[in-house]
Amino acid sequence: MQEFLETDIKFLPGVGPKMAELLNKELNIFNYHDLLYYFPYKYIDRTKFYKISDLDPDLPFVQVKGVIKGYSTEGHKAGKRLVADFQDDTGTIKLIWFKGGKWITGSYTPGVEFIVFGKPSVFNGMINIIHPEIEAVSKVAERMSSALQAQYSTTENLKNHFLTSKALSKLIGTLFKQITFKLPETLPPGIISKYKLMEFSQALQKIHFPSDPGEIDKARYRLKFEELLYIQLNILRFKNNRSRKYKGFIFSNVGENFNDFYFKNLPFTLTEAQKRVVREIRKDLGSGRQMNRLLQGDVGSGKTLVALMSMLIAIDNGYQACLMAPTEILAGQHYDTITKMLEGINVKIRLLTGSSKKSLRQEISESLLDKSLNILIGTHALIEENVRFGNLGLVIIDEQHRFGVEQRARLWQKSLNPPHILVMTATPIPRTLAMTLYGDLDVSVIDELPPGRIPIKTMHYFDSERNKVFGFLRSQIAEGRQIYIVYPLIQESEKMDYKDLEDGWDTISREFPSPKYCISVVHGRMTPAIKEESMRLFREGHAHFLIATTVIEVGVDIPNASVMVIESAERFGLSQLHQLRGRVGRGADQSYCILMSSGKLSKEAARRIEIMVSTNDGFEIAETDLQLRGPGDIEGTMQSGIPFDLKIADLAKDGQIIEYVRNIAEDILDKDPLLANNQNLILNEGLKRLFSKKQSWSNIS
Ligand code: ADP
Ligand code: MG
Repeated sequence: MQEFLETDIKFLPGVGPKMAELLNKELNIFNYHDLLYYFPYKYIDRTKFYKISDLDPDLPFVQVKGVIKGYSTEGHKAGKRLVADFQDDTGTIKLIWFKGGKWITGSYTPGVEFIVFGKPSVFNGMINIIHPEIEAVSKVAERMSSALQAQYSTTENLKNHFLTSKALSKLIGTLFKQITFKLPETLPPGIISKYKLMEFSQALQKIHFPSDPGEIDKARYRLKFEELLYIQLNILRFKNNRSRKYKGFIFSNVGENFNDFYFKNLPFTLTEAQKRVVREIRKDLGSGRQMNRLLQGDVGSGKTLVALMSMLIAIDNGYQACLMAPTEILAGQHYDTITKMLEGINVKIRLLTGSSKKSLRQEISESLLDKSLNILIGTHALIEENVRFGNLGLVIIDEQHRFGVEQRARLWQKSLNPPHILVMTATPIPRTLAMTLYGDLDVSVIDELPPGRIPIKTMHYFDSERNKVFGFLRSQIAEGRQIYIVYPLIQESEKMDYKDLEDGWDTISREFPSPKYCISVVHGRMTPAIKEESMRLFREGHAHFLIATTVIEVGVDIPNASVMVIESAERFGLSQLHQLRGRVGRGADQSYCILMSSGKLSKEAARRIEIMVSTNDGFEIAETDLQLRGPGDIEGTMQSGIPFDLKIADLAKDGQIIEYVRNIAEDILDKDPLLANNQNLILNEGLKRLFSKKQSWSNIS
């Protein structure tokens, strides 16, 4: 049966090699199974008829009964079209075809009653329907038992080859006729009855050919439930497997270094959230299980401090720790901050990046192996082959969504016994999405900002209002503040992007001339040394402006910089805007984020800017982002290791089902961790079928 479903699509009657190629290329449909799992995106009720007098162009697809009064040809060349007047007892509309005229006049005789189906639009004040579907009234009656017609998305290319939604529906119908056996159930009978699910074969049939809306809901629910349950089972099974397989180093002491830091050096009191998270981490580290924890906290919530305290625990127990950051600037900054925080404490720290000198590398190499180096901070350089630790006990990854699964996996392999892992992210992810993307990690959240922060004021200005903005910047500088100006960098047009930056620099330096004003520039094409020099000028307060591409997006911490100007803000995504804004608001002064945009904004861009102006709450912004873009585009999702395209569930909209099946999956695995019981064999098989090809996912952290 499985074999039958794997039959090449070209063998389905009515398909053939040419059409098969199109289906392969355009819809990823290669075999019968793929076609069955090509689900409709909506249904149209074919029992409902409109009167012509009720039609208006805002209506979606409509169905009208009437007769064609006559044909005419209008327009010239590319605009040439066949037009039919179509009439019922309330009025007349025009039906329009740009091709296939002969066939149409031959097929649809004036005076005969037809049903016309299509999307109404307006042209010259007249309602018309372009390329309608037409059927004789007599035919419709016998057509289908179902009045609800499934609609499938197609592409222009497919439509040009007559592979319309209707044609796809027909192919699926043909396939069902070929299926002479009952499609094997994919969930255990116990689950089906306990959670009152529709049976598999029925669900598959009804999702394509429902007879009433209730059936659609049930079929959909069943298929979503199944898809999400398998994902959760896979994640949880992997998580359990890992904790069975690996013993964690036990860090039982909280010793001298930690206490010295805590009682002598800690420059402020921890927030309640930081305390809670440190407790959670300490518990993991002492448990004898290997820690795999995700630390989520909005920008500025103080994750670095938590990272540092965790590293000190590792050191107090005789182990080394490393901290990996996605950019040299950020790694350098962590190194500076941490070195300063540990002043007077006997801990050896080194920074390793792509531009570290050979002699330093040599020294690091030796002191890693003889265990005299306690903390290594760095970029991707940390995962290079020749970096070997004497006894690595804890790995911390900052801004983890910037790293691919592979890179993270390599760090994890740096030690015979896997070290404890803490990954940190400032990109808040809605809870149910996190359950899927990072479902194998335990999650800690810092949901509180350090006290005394004044909320950032966000404002939106159009390019035409630039003078007003310059006036404001001048007054901020007069008060001793510093200013970031950021330009978008989009890879496809990199050259043009740099031009934006250059033009921006020209304008700013004309408006704010030296020697009165000093301007620093940073972008990705600079050598690290020059970049560092520019950063230093700004960090030490010599430069009033830092003009940059998005290289400053993550982690830079300069409290006196209290104004963030984002140019072409409409070109940034929400999470990026939020990250950038997080660069300010770190000091004691009122901070500002100024979003500059052109006058022409798409609806979505306007919505993004509106939400940025209205809230500082990262989770609210993440939710909006998820609704606007769908989960596929959310930063980090690409690398998340979701191992296949979801066919029916929607991570943005099906949060409730995700929570529900997560609990069910936990329950199943609690009772039968290996899914070895008879009733769970189906699940075991299903997991093998779905996930066996995707091994690379297995080391998500
Ligand atoms: P992020 O979570 O974005 O990495 P950081 O760790 O860079 O945030 O912290 C942001 C700023 O807040 C830093 O200047 C840090 O010194 C400061 N900070 C962190 N924790 C506290 C605290 N409990 N009280 C006051 N300031 C804090
Ligand atoms: Mg940070």
